[in-house]
Amino acid sequence: MEKLIEKIYSRPARPGMVGDGFRVFNYFPNAELTQHRVSPFLLLDFNAEYDFGPSDHLRGVDVHPHKGFETVTIAYKGSVAHHDSTGNSGVINPGDVQWMTAGAGILHKEYHEENFSKKGGPFEMVQLWVNLPAKDKLTSPKYQPITADKMGKVILPGNGGTVNVIAGNFNESEGPASTFTPVNLFDIRLNKGGKLHTSIPITHNSILLVIGGKVTVNGQQADEHSFILFKNEGEEINISADENSVVLLLSGEPINEPIAQYGPFVMNTPQELQVAFQEFQSGKFGVLE
Ligand code: MN
Repeated sequence: MEKLIEKIYSRPARPGMVGDGFRVFNYFPNAELTQHRVSPFLLLDFNAEYDFGPSDHLRGVDVHPHKGFETVTIAYKGSVAHHDSTGNSGVINPGDVQWMTAGAGILHKEYHEENFSKKGGPFEMVQLWVNLPAKDKLTSPKYQPITADKMGKVILPGNGGTVNVIAGNFNESEGPASTFTPVNLFDIRLNKGGKLHTSIPITHNSILLVIGGKVTVNGQQADEHSFILFKNEGEEINISADENSVVLLLSGEPINEPIAQYGPFVMNTPQELQVAFQEFQSGKFGVLE
């Protein structure tokens, strides 16, 4: 049976700035899209295409901590550089994904890559926060650079388009990301008239974001930048592209555990949050210039 659609949301009215380099629409969390509906995902920020123009400094976010979850950055246009307190650094180019497990605690910075920053140009990114189950919250920080060439690639029939499998399993093709709970993350590129069929477990919370173009999903039309929340009823998803379209499909098994969150720390109890603060303030997450 086709997965039922709970609601189609349009793009939030106003973007907010994260540092001076990310102009993002925050799709969740909010009063309606609470943990109950979106777990294991905690947050979705979408920097819809925006041209920052040339800059002589590297726009972005300066050193900040994370603890207790993972940050996943998906680059569609433009390039982002980062480095962190464990010594990892890298550049995410269009089509690439950075999967950072903050786990027990990390400091990092995220900013426009130098050459891109100098030239300016269209910039389009998604940042997703993925929760960790209680048993893995203190896992060692790690970093998975998932470049476009490493992703599972599925060519859709009839020149319909391509699915880049970042995490999970799309029609028997595996994504390279290692995850702590079952998560699917698919970067879907459809040509006009292209069709896609897949099946997502009924137990997963499931979401689709239209990055660009216009699609029909299980019989309902979804315009550019709209956000579809599926009900946890039915498994089949059918997408057809009314224009050339780019779509992000995310789904995951909910983590049914209490959440205590303050900004970039996401733990299970207020006591654990206090510990996170103390660790951050005492320099336990390391040093980063
Ligand atoms: Mn960050």
